[in-house]
Amino acid sequence: MIKKQLVVEQGWNFDNSYAKLPNTFYTSLNPTQVASPKLVIFNDALAAELGLNQQELEGKVGAEIFAGNIIPEGAAPLAQAYAGHQFGHFTRLGDGRAHLLGEHISPSGKRYDIQLKGSGRTPYSRGGDGRAVLGPMLREYIISEAMHALGIPTTRSLAVVTTGEEVIRETILPGAVLTRVAASHIRVGTFQYAAAWCSEDELRKLADYTIQRHYPELEGESESNRYRRLLQTVIQRQAELIAKWMQIGFIHGVMNTDNMTISGETIDYGPCAFMDIYDPATVFSSIDRDGRYAYGNQPYIGGWNLARFAETLLPLLHADENKAVEIAQDEISKFNELFSQNWTKGMRAKLGLYREETGDEALIEGILSLMKKHRADFTNTFRSLTYNLQSEAMFGSSDFGKWHEQWQTRLEKQQESKQDVQRLMRSVNPVVIPRNHRVEEALEAATNGDYNVMMKLLNVLTRPYEYIANHDEYCQLPAPSARPYQTFCGT
Ligand code: AMP
Ligand code: MG
Repeated sequence: MIKKQLVVEQGWNFDNSYAKLPNTFYTSLNPTQVASPKLVIFNDALAAELGLNQQELEGKVGAEIFAGNIIPEGAAPLAQAYAGHQFGHFTRLGDGRAHLLGEHISPSGKRYDIQLKGSGRTPYSRGGDGRAVLGPMLREYIISEAMHALGIPTTRSLAVVTTGEEVIRETILPGAVLTRVAASHIRVGTFQYAAAWCSEDELRKLADYTIQRHYPELEGESESNRYRRLLQTVIQRQAELIAKWMQIGFIHGVMNTDNMTISGETIDYGPCAFMDIYDPATVFSSIDRDGRYAYGNQPYIGGWNLARFAETLLPLLHADENKAVEIAQDEISKFNELFSQNWTKGMRAKLGLYREETGDEALIEGILSLMKKHRADFTNTFRSLTYNLQSEAMFGSSDFGKWHEQWQTRLEKQQESKQDVQRLMRSVNPVVIPRNHRVEEALEAATNGDYNVMMKLLNVLTRPYEYIANHDEYCQLPAPSARPYQTFCGT
């Protein structure tokens, strides 16, 4: 029996609106009890934002809650049903190892999903053990929090507990549960599930719920326009998001449709990683053999996923199927342009350019092709341009010299001062990112019981846009022997 605990003093304020959807969308069930939970990391800053009581939750009770052994008062755990195209293949899925505890309403009135990941089997486990291991859960914690600090919309991480149980992978590893905080867990795959296995009425209920939860400004739209506007808005959010990823060198690694949110938050930090040397073909994921989710392929895949989303909305877009297809195609065809506007706007800022001028695209292309040719580090190149550093060998080359001159001429043509230019560049060019070898080093120490390396890294990553001299060691590339770096899925 799972104990219910009065938790007024813990600050929880649960509401469970997802559970009011037709029950085909979820299964109510509690997490599986674990042997001996121990809290290994707790996010004080996020807890404060959520209005949670840190002292209460950092103790033994917190460990029990974040392991799923105690259900806080007001929470009503469930596993969500969804589907998805995984590497292009359509499958019925669902939370196979996650439980949504409920939606917590923060003191400012914002609604957040509180989800445990690694919390045991569900009807959607498909033969999996429902469990997660410590290393990957800490990795999600580090990278999602780094993304948040970088200003990228993302799910966040509130806590990681070890379960005191062993999990069998290729070797025996310590079990862990991550507490993920999200605007919601509604995915493109949730709509695919509704379109494939539910009635039109149920699909409409999901769409209306999504609009109410994420885009309430669309509720005033006429019935005939509302779902088209939903499609438009999601396309816009994803175009913005993917451009933002790429401007900091982020490679998601597994952009399956079940890993794309309707809220526009980054989700599912499995095989993601940051590119170091600039090359659009960069892939880190061990299972992505064809480079489907390579750095430079992300906008293409984004558009592909959004086309799948548009298909699910067809019955709602127009009663006449041909007209519905026309509407969907019309909206989907705008994605490329929207992405490229966002990309160019962001890249312009990275170069300190305040306004649009012809020739900007060539200037952007120019620096990228030089970086590729000279194998320059993506982050450090922009960091050096911002802070006048000499980090890259490329800076001594004559072709770079020529580009630099063009860039300076372009900068001088704008009315903004040098300080204005620097201010803009500093706000968009990170000094530190979670470099792969640094993340690995932190995880290795943590899984051996030493959390100091990770705490230090997290501390550095919370201020990515500040130039702090003694953070220099976090800007260095790994020794060549540490490459090629590989990441793994679903661990
Ligand atoms: P992911 O690759 O993390 O997006 O996961 C794809 C699907 O596999 C999701 O439905 C997960 O819930 C499920 N899954 C991943 N790992 C496990 C596991 N150990 N046990 C059960 N289901 C899992
Ligand atoms: Mg997933």
